[in-house]
Amino acid sequence: MPHLRWNPLLRTYTMVAANRQSRPHLPKDYCPFCPGCGKVPDDYDVYVYANDFPALSILPDVADEQVAFLSGNVYHEAAAYGHCEVILYSPDHYASLFQLPLSHIEKLVSVWKQRQEVLSTDERVKYIFPFENRGEEVGVTMHHPHGQLYAYPFVPLKIKTELDSCKAYYQQYGIPLFEAMNRFELQDGRRIITENEHFVAYLPYFTDYPFGIFIVCKSNMGSFAAFSSAMQNSLAGMLKQITGAFDLVFDRPFPYMMCIHQTPVNSPEYEGCETWYRFHIEFYPPLREKNKVKWYASSEMGAWAAANTLPVEDTAAILRKALHRFTNG
Ligand SMILES: [Zn+2]
Ligand SMILES: [Zn+2]
Repeated sequence: MPHLRWNPLLRTYTMVAANRQSRPHLPKDYCPFCPGCGKVPDDYDVYVYANDFPALSILPDVADEQVAFLSGNVYHEAAAYGHCEVILYSPDHYASLFQLPLSHIEKLVSVWKQRQEVLSTDERVKYIFPFENRGEEVGVTMHHPHGQLYAYPFVPLKIKTELDSCKAYYQQYGIPLFEAMNRFELQDGRRIITENEHFVAYLPYFTDYPFGIFIVCKSNMGSFAAFSSAMQNSLAGMLKQITGAFDLVFDRPFPYMMCIHQTPVNSPEYEGCETWYRFHIEFYPPLREKNKVKWYASSEMGAWAAANTLPVEDTAAILRKALHRFTNG
């Protein structure tokens, strides 16, 4: 059954979910997310669906305390408490995010906000992570347009690292790191893709993915919970533009991982962190050419030493051109 195993080398948990192995290989003409299949309402616009094969559960097995004892506290096990949800973007099996009307994407953003508000009342939840995997290149098995959400009982390592960096920067320079990044990127301009009232989209100077856009909040907002309706609409417009531009980069469906980063919840050690940490979205699109995947290989995986073979000043120009084509129809 699912449980968490402590990795003492990286000081974080691995989610062990053997039940996910038994995910069915579905027949090609059946989709459990399409209306009429019996598993979802016959009429919905955006629908939240409990993951049938969750890595985290609200009724997890009790952790095996013997592990800590037997290993002399080298290892320990923790209960895989949490929530795993699937968020269906549309009843249309063949739609993509950018093809949905703006009002529909606004609905999706308000559903993200609502899930943030509801799940953060569960005190055992420490971090809420909405994300989307798009395309077979990132392992998608269900083609119906959907994202997911994991609510973890711990703050994941990458987020923890960002939080620590942002706190240290703020203590040293007195401004939030994301504010400093936004200012420099806007001033430099070469890596900016677009901006609107509340958000700015750019390929950060350091990004390791050729088309790895960040969408960053222009004000000190930690999470969806703090969004006004104007900000929700602003984000919806930005998502439509960016994902629309993506499909025009190589004139093919553009695979990506979309990762929404926000402040932790129920974590006293990060109390007030919205002063120095900020809501942002990171995209990891695996393509470097039309049919060439940028693999996450030994240096990236084994040493965390990232390599980007394309200068982001060049790929930003490609993305701006694609966005221009998208907005001018
Ligand atoms: Zn479907
Ligand atoms: Zn981040």
